[in-house]
Amino acid sequence: MTGTTPGGAPLFDAEPDAYLALHGALDEEVADALLDPRERAVRTRTREVVAEHVAPGAGARDRDHVFAHDSYQALARAGLAGLLVPEEYGGTADSTVAYAAAMEEITAGCPATSLVYMTQMHAAYPILHSGGPDLARQYVPGLVDGSRYGSLGVTEPGAGSDASALRTLAVAETDADGRTTGYAITGSKTFITTGDRSDVVVCFATVDPRAGRRGITAFVVDGDAPGLSRGAPMSKTGMHGSTTAELFLDRTPVPVSHRLGGEGEGWAIVVSSVTKSRISAAAQGVGLARGAYAHALAALHRVHGADLPPDVAFVLAELRGAILRGRLTLLGVAREVDRTGGATGGAIGLMKQTCTDIGWQVAVAATKVLGRVGDLSELGIERYLRDAKVTQIYDGTNEVQRLLIARDTAGRLKGALR
Ligand SMILES: Cc1cc2nc3c(=O)[nH]c(=O)nc-3n(C[C@H](O)[C@H](O)[C@H](O)COP(=O)(O)OP(=O)(O)OC[C@H]3O[C@@H](n4cnc5c(N)ncnc54)[C@H](O)[C@@H]3O)c2cc1C
Repeated sequence: MTGTTPGGAPLFDAEPDAYLALHGALDEEVADALLDPRERAVRTRTREVVAEHVAPGAGARDRDHVFAHDSYQALARAGLAGLLVPEEYGGTADSTVAYAAAMEEITAGCPATSLVYMTQMHAAYPILHSGGPDLARQYVPGLVDGSRYGSLGVTEPGAGSDASALRTLAVAETDADGRTTGYAITGSKTFITTGDRSDVVVCFATVDPRAGRRGITAFVVDGDAPGLSRGAPMSKTGMHGSTTAELFLDRTPVPVSHRLGGEGEGWAIVVSSVTKSRISAAAQGVGLARGAYAHALAALHRVHGADLPPDVAFVLAELRGAILRGRLTLLGVAREVDRTGGATGGAIGLMKQTCTDIGWQVAVAATKVLGRVGDLSELGIERYLRDAKVTQIYDGTNEVQRLLIARDTAGRLKGALR
């Protein structure tokens, strides 16, 4: 039997069959047409795992601040945690489109689980991109099978939107012949997802603070490396099933073999990584919107049946259109990334800003359309609202995305108008 809340809404996400029926009814054929058969299969399988193992515990994870270990492990067991990882490292080498579709599904069921899930990929990607086969073999399979947690450490107390201002210092150590054998890393990182428990940290530091971007270098740091310590998980507005913590490094030794690429090549890794991470954030925006919309529909159906009052139906029509716009933008940019290996900063910025703003706006509207009942925690909608907020902040704030879009527009207009 489907349970009910004081608001009278069915807790459909506690029951896999009810979850699958409702979300299946919300599919949009025009967006599905953009998926190839394999991408549809990934989406279908992800939704099944989400319905069974991810969505049912989402409310409790939020309420009790429980790290999304079980739900992430379920996704890893189903072979869904390495979609962008080559098969030789335990992944399935799927398309960015498949990854985006899976991220949307996971987020619709439990946004916090999606944050843990995407962070695993964000930690694996720089190692795959610049680590070479030995480091990839050593670290990536564990991130894919769920036996290791990973973090990506860029942000510092004095370096957020301007990541190139980072001050964590990597001092080279040399042998008698002057050859670099390793580094001692000192500094602090803040707001690091999964930072309280990560077994592996991809840490960005500078080998020369005067060199700006040209000094930035990336390293793989073991979670138990000497001199690495962590702050307690931070208390946040939302995403309570994902942890966020400070990291402190005090002359932490890192062998030269754990440097990703050459000295000064870290900025290129940051730039390449944000293409993937902004796909993740944008997919979260669409998934958050769909999750909030689904919850609102379930609650309204309980009160009104299928005949919704026109004012309510009009609001829902707007929301449905916004979700579809977000999904089409997400899938379009993801397809371009698959086709060309990248997309312009303007397109990535448009996607990230558009989709995460839609996540927030739909969550706000879905709460509002229910009146006072929308405020009830039991209904699960206000959780989407709280979880949506941070997607407009991380992976480059939406103000910074607007700057990138404006720059891209100015570049396009150069010479086009007289
Ligand atoms: C829950 C959570 C998880 C996170 N996880 C990670 C992680 O795993 N790894 C990691 O490295 N970081 C992580 N971050 C950090 C995140 O990437 C930064 O918060 C983000 O880059 C913004 O930096 P900031 O917070 O220092 O804001 P600031 O850069 O200080 O910006 C403050 C305000 O000024 C605006 N602003 C800044 N520059 C401009 C400009 N040029 N023009 C107009 N407006 C501007 C911003 O939009 C913002 O509104 C996380 C953050 C949160 C909240």
